[in-house]
Amino acid sequence: MNVIAANLQQIRASLPAHVTLVAVSKTKPITDLSEAYDAGQRIFGENKIQEMTQKWEALPKDIEWHMIGHVQTNKVKYMAPYVHTIHAVDSLKLLKEINKQALKHDRIIHCFLQIKIAQEDSKFGMHSSEATTLINSEAVQALSNIRITGVMGMATFTEDTAQIQSEFDTLRQFFITLSEQHPSITELSIGMSGDYKIAIATGSTMVRIGSSIFGARNYQHS
Ligand SMILES: *Cc1c(COP(=O)(O)O)cnc(C)c1O
Repeated sequence: MNVIAANLQQIRASLPAHVTLVAVSKTKPITDLSEAYDAGQRIFGENKIQEMTQKWEALPKDIEWHMIGHVQTNKVKYMAPYVHTIHAVDSLKLLKEINKQALKHDRIIHCFLQIKIAQEDSKFGMHSSEATTLINSEAVQALSNIRITGVMGMATFTEDTAQIQSEFDTLRQFFITLSEQHPSITELSIGMSGDYKIAIATGSTMVRIGSSIFGARNYQHS
C-alpha cells in the first residue's frame, strides 16, 4: 500500500461515521490525488481556483470538489461548472456572484459561511451576528441557486488545546442555534491535521485534512 493510501486508512479509522473527510490536496500533484482516489477518496479540497480547475479537468468526474480558500468574486465563474461546496463565503456580494454563476450552469452550489473564531487577527470570516443577519435577509433568501449548508471556522494556530477547544465550541454553539432555525444547515466544518481530534470531540461534521494525508507542503516549488 502506498503512503497516501495508508495515511487515509489510518485517518478514516479514527473518524466517527457522521464525520466527512475532505482531503486537502492543495499544492500536491495530480498523481497524489489519483492515489487518494484509488484508495477510495472522493472529496477533495483546494484553495486556488485555477489549480482546482486543472485537477478537475484531469481527474474522474465523480469527485466532489470543495473550495476551502478565500474566493475572489471575479474568479467564481471558473469553478461554477463543477464546484460542490465553497467553505469560506463571507459576504452577500460573493453569495450573489456564486448564485449568478450557478444559475448559468443550472446548478445549486453549496456554501458555508466562514465565521471568525480565532483570537489571532484573521482577515477573513464574519462575526456570528453578521452571519445571522445575512442568512435571514430577503436578499439571500431570494438566491435560488445557492444553498447555505454549513459554517466553517479555523482555530488559532497554537499548542494551547484549551484555547482551540474553546474557539471550536463557540462555533458549535452558533452552529446549533443556526441549524435549529435553518434545517438546511447541517455541516460544521472544523478541524485540520493539527486539531481535527479536538474538532471531532467538539462536534465537527466535516474535517479538512491535508498534510496528514499527503505529507508536508512545499510552497516554494508550487
Ligand atoms: C490548508 C488548509 C487545510 C488543511 O491543512 P492541514 O494542516 O494540511 O491539514 C484546512 N483548511 C483550510 C482552510 C486550509 O487552507
